[in-house]
Amino acid sequence: MKHLDEYRSEAHATGLAEAIRRRVTKPWTLMEICGGQTHTLIRSGIDRMLPDEVTLVHGPGCPVCVTPIGVLDAAVDLVKRPEVTLLSFGDMLRVPGTSEDLLGARARGGDVRMVYSPLDAVQLAAAHPEREVVFLAVGFETTAPACALAVKRAKQEGLTNFSILCAHVRVPPAMEAILDAPDCRVQGFLAAGHVCTVMGYHEYEPIAERYGIPITVTGFEPSDLLQGIAMTLDALEAETHGVTNQYTRVVTREGNGPAQAVLDEVFDVVDREWRGIGTIPGGGFGVAKAYAAYDAAKKFGLGEPKADIDNACIAGEILRGVKRPPACPAFGTDCTPDHPLGAPMVSSEGACAAYYRYGRRP
Ligand code: SF4
Repeated sequence: MKHLDEYRSEAHATGLAEAIRRRVTKPWTLMEICGGQTHTLIRSGIDRMLPDEVTLVHGPGCPVCVTPIGVLDAAVDLVKRPEVTLLSFGDMLRVPGTSEDLLGARARGGDVRMVYSPLDAVQLAAAHPEREVVFLAVGFETTAPACALAVKRAKQEGLTNFSILCAHVRVPPAMEAILDAPDCRVQGFLAAGHVCTVMGYHEYEPIAERYGIPITVTGFEPSDLLQGIAMTLDALEAETHGVTNQYTRVVTREGNGPAQAVLDEVFDVVDREWRGIGTIPGGGFGVAKAYAAYDAAKKFGLGEPKADIDNACIAGEILRGVKRPPACPAFGTDCTPDHPLGAPMVSSEGACAAYYRYGRRP
């Protein structure tokens, strides 16, 4: 049963959609960055409430979707070591690697566990000094501070049996990569409110300036999203650009200083492979030299993971907003949540999963 606030939010959303209809005069294409926002847009039918002139495409803001297959393969290889216990968030366990996923590795006897926080992994390492505990660290600037804190805690506690397989990614360089692509359709962004809660939105200002586009920091309720869309469309119709903040109840320009400080201390900004997109300069966080003992890649001598993409899966085009899930020939036929060919169908934040789950099937 829906909560009263959801009805209020939906009623507000309907009014906003009407206001947008009255204001739009030209065709525009907007991208929401965050996979959580994608699910709300499709679940609420917001894309269908908008005038025909407005096209929503869906961005790469699903951490599971952009983690390269090489990282999963490295995790599967690590699990083959009898001394290793590997932990990660639940969705990561089902993402297909080259030969199998982590659940398959567990079925073969590997010690693979799901956790809700990287600090759980530190606790496990402290309780089991005989095990090598590795946390598969994926996600954006939202989850990276908790992972950095876990590394810091492990060092403070003098643990030598904890490390992270670090695949954290950063949003602003990915936005630039999307805008630089010759087939880019995006004319305005809805920036993810939770990333901006941590990082603020000052990082987006040079991007808006350089590319002459509007970027609106946007929340997660249907009415937040429609407000964000309306603000972005207003800027486009007025031929202005810059960063505006719809999510003022949570986000400030400067963001969360202590969270940024722990990121700066534990991580360096590095080039990073994004699944389906390629190497993005400055596109990720890597473990800083002072914490190198907690870097599983160094500890276990792992090579640089290569990005790859599943046969038949057009996730790269989906994640860059060039196509939407129904344009994939495998969508809803060969590729379903029970038999996913690619990460966007596995992840609870994936665009393909959103379209499938909310009835946009062929
Ligand atoms: S529907 Fe499946 S195969 Fe197609 S892009 Fe999405 S995840 Fe890949």
